Amino acid sequence: MFTIGCHLSSSQGYEHMAQAAASIGANTFQFFTRNPRGGRAKEIKAADIAAFEERAKEAGITRILAHAPYTLNPAAAKPETREFALMTLADDLERMEATPHQLYNMHPGAHVQQGVDVGIQKIADAINEVLKPEHTTTLLLETMAGKGTEVGGTFEELAEIIRRVELSDKVGVCLDTCHVWDGGYDIAGDLDGVLEDFDKTIGLDRLHAIHINDSKNPLGAHKDRHEVIGGGYIGLHALAAVTAHPALRELPFYLETPHEDIKEYGEEIRALTAAREEMI
Ligand code: FE
Ligand code: FE
Ligand code: ZN
Repeated sequence: MFTIGCHLSSSQGYEHMAQAAASIGANTFQFFTRNPRGGRAKEIKAADIAAFEERAKEAGITRILAHAPYTLNPAAAKPETREFALMTLADDLERMEATPHQLYNMHPGAHVQQGVDVGIQKIADAINEVLKPEHTTTLLLETMAGKGTEVGGTFEELAEIIRRVELSDKVGVCLDTCHVWDGGYDIAGDLDGVLEDFDKTIGLDRLHAIHINDSKNPLGAHKDRHEVIGGGYIGLHALAAVTAHPALRELPFYLETPHEDIKEYGEEIRALTAAREEMI
């Protein structure tokens, strides 16, 4: 079973996303909970959720991944910036209960010259404030490219955040192939070695989702610019190998590659599926 989908616009609701996913042969999808730059979220309609559940069943969609606005910074130095991040995360986690037991991914944050340890502590404190025992969602921290003062560019930093979270049973990691590559983890040349490192540092049992992207930049560039599968430095073969790896192949995979038309995601899904099947 290959669980693969792509990032979709959430502007027309949940049912529409399930339909769009099904139309390109996807069996999962990712979406922003609200405008990716922050701002108010649209009301979730019970009828939309009911229709979504029906469509999802038909299309074999079992897991979906919500993505927090990428501008949130729970590690911010400015109190009002940090407060806004906390409010948004708390609101998103409440809204996630409309679709229980799903995944919610966030960028850990940027320490903005406060130092990485202050950043780690502020992020852990933020999660401790917003995550409640009654939440059924698994909160994922995304592996980052290590651009600027981003926290989470190494497995050690992510492990340290999780170590400081009280309800850490509800916390995991989403691995972004472009980000880890840009962060210096050679998933093309030594995937086994990278996964061994991940397992020793964070634990593979914490890994719940994969963003499958090629990179416009060479290994260790710390840039974070996604490329279409096979069009970048990682390459189709190495990315298919990620989807086929015994430690990863049951996870859901999400394309965040630059496309204008949703049909191009469908083509990418077919290319990855074909390359993956030859490896399994
Ligand atoms: Fe992301
Ligand atoms: Fe990503
Ligand atoms: Zn990215």
